[in-house]
Amino acid sequence: MQHDHHDHASHSPNSSGPESAGVSGVSDVSEAPRKPKQEQEDATTDVTEVAPGILRTQLPISMPGLGHVNCYVLEDERGIAVVDPGLPGPESWDHLVDRLGRTGHQVADVHTVVVTHSHPDHFGGAMRLHHETGADIVTHESFRTIFDTSELDDDEDSESLDVNSPDDRAAAMERYFAKPSPWGGRRAGPSPEFMERMRTAGSMFTTPRPTQPLVDGQTIKLARREWVAMHTPGHTYDHLCLFDPEFGVVLTGDHVLPTITPHISGLTPNADPLALFFESLHRMNGLDGVSVALPAHGHPFTDLGGRAEHIIEHHEDRLDIIRNASQDLPDGTVEQFMRVLFRERSWGEMAESETYAHLEHLRELGEMQRSFDEGFARYATTA
Ligand SMILES: [Zn+2]
Ligand SMILES: [Zn+2]
Repeated sequence: MQHDHHDHASHSPNSSGPESAGVSGVSDVSEAPRKPKQEQEDATTDVTEVAPGILRTQLPISMPGLGHVNCYVLEDERGIAVVDPGLPGPESWDHLVDRLGRTGHQVADVHTVVVTHSHPDHFGGAMRLHHETGADIVTHESFRTIFDTSELDDDEDSESLDVNSPDDRAAAMERYFAKPSPWGGRRAGPSPEFMERMRTAGSMFTTPRPTQPLVDGQTIKLARREWVAMHTPGHTYDHLCLFDPEFGVVLTGDHVLPTITPHISGLTPNADPLALFFESLHRMNGLDGVSVALPAHGHPFTDLGGRAEHIIEHHEDRLDIIRNASQDLPDGTVEQFMRVLFRERSWGEMAESETYAHLEHLRELGEMQRSFDEGFARYATTA
């Protein structure tokens, strides 16, 4: 699957475009001015038991809009599982070792790593944990990062499936970003700094190879609980949530966050990622007996259904904005609609990608039609 926001995150009120070099692509939904969001809070060294046998720790991630990623520690008789072990690289690793120590555990206790989706602030520590302890790596079966040359090359041969040298990865990314976007927009691509970091991080940047890929409905036992895997495409195609129906605990990853909405990329293998996202949100709303939702950023919360509903409304509002704008923008380009949908500081590839996802959704609904003019997609209402 493809991501257009490996190197961006955003947090601008009422928009979801890029601001600078983050990695998670999460955007803000609120109109409220400048009160720091809980997702923006700096990582603390606190260890909180958020449900029996489940500890919340936080790892620093320095990017606009996101101050930490929650790394949950799930205890059982075999040791621990960790969920979303932070960014790649030695610094984050040192924090991870420190946090595990504060939970009374050590790296050697880790028998399983759960990675909710293919963004670096979630998968970063996974392969090193796997190398050091032989830990299983659990993801959804469609897990695929933008750094995996296999996807970028469209080559399913065994040898090329190896995520090989840093130079190979960098070259694969450069090839990927050399292609134009499906709507003819520019490809900003990663910053030179990011590419350099990736080259020098070497094996630190190894992307996870799942040893235990899950399909929807499959169960897995962690923290003495039986979790049901939920495939929740939208933020990324490969997003995985885990639901413990007995005690109503849900690990929501970036799919549902307490106060900000995740970026929806138009660059996915699916024709209508927004429709998938709506469906994945409705599934959250339909869960019975939820006692606590454990997001990847921000604090645990209880009203998962209400929050999912709110995010659906947010995107319905955005669709309405496009519907209204289309009156004044006959045959508008993605960039033109983006300028209506996003504040100027957010304009760019990521905002275009999310705009494209909304336009394609309206096209799938039969409300808009698309034509191409000199390589650029143009949208007009069908009515
Ligand atoms: Zn994230
Ligand atoms: Zn993410």
